[in-house]
Amino acid sequence: MKKFLFAFEPNIPIFQYSNIPVSLTGEQMQGRGKGLIFIISAPSGTGKTTLVRGVMEQLPDLRFSVSYTTRSPRANEREGEDYYFVSPSVFQKMVERGEFLEWAEVLGNRYGTALASVNQLASKGMDLILDIDTQGAKKVKEKVEQTVLIYILPPSLEALRERLVKRGLDSPEMIKFRLANARRDIEEAHWYHYVIVNERVEDAVEKLKAIIIAERCRRDKSFILEEKSMGGKSWRELLLRIV
Ligand code: 5GP
Repeated sequence: MKKFLFAFEPNIPIFQYSNIPVSLTGEQMQGRGKGLIFIISAPSGTGKTTLVRGVMEQLPDLRFSVSYTTRSPRANEREGEDYYFVSPSVFQKMVERGEFLEWAEVLGNRYGTALASVNQLASKGMDLILDIDTQGAKKVKEKVEQTVLIYILPPSLEALRERLVKRGLDSPEMIKFRLANARRDIEEAHWYHYVIVNERVEDAVEKLKAIIIAERCRRDKSFILEEKSMGGKSWRELLLRIV
């Protein structure tokens, strides 16, 4: 399978998936190397959304990829901010047209990451956050080289149960179902690059921030060493002058 690769040259197709070319331009090319995709997965009720909001308030050039879903909006959710809410038939047409980077069925509803959204954000020079489940994470990992996988764990299953009850969104049956699902889901955490236990939100946000900053430093390494990032010179050229 072809891996997506964000490259330096402007306007070349970065990844070619289905029939939609994805390319990066200007801003991203000037400053650094490949755009990163941070995938955040967690059982529902773990506080993932709060962590993502927390880190996005603090770090620049980071954008949230808004998914498509067939589920109905909850009371506090907004079209285009939390999700694009579409009918099952619209979702199915998007699947058939190859418009998703990945999609999956989660708890009876379908969710997908549109390739066009990822392309649009990447073209603005942003690193992306995808809040997607483990099935979707696996697919993106296979297709996109610069994927960083982060799994958020609750402090315990009991703590998760308490949070789900307190949240007040689900019936007792649904809570049972979510917990059973969480057990299965957590078994997938071992193939993620990082695991964060969300015991205290502030600490978990700090850890998430640290991961993103460290991965950006790693990504920028060859740019700093090889490209003309130091006043039009690369470090390699500067070193040659000294010797
Ligand atoms: P919720 O309905 O609680 O917002 O989300 C349910 C699950 O669907 C969460 O685990 C969330 O990460 C996942 N999800 C949301 N968007 C996507 C997506 O685009 N693709 C996949 N594979 N999962 C998603």
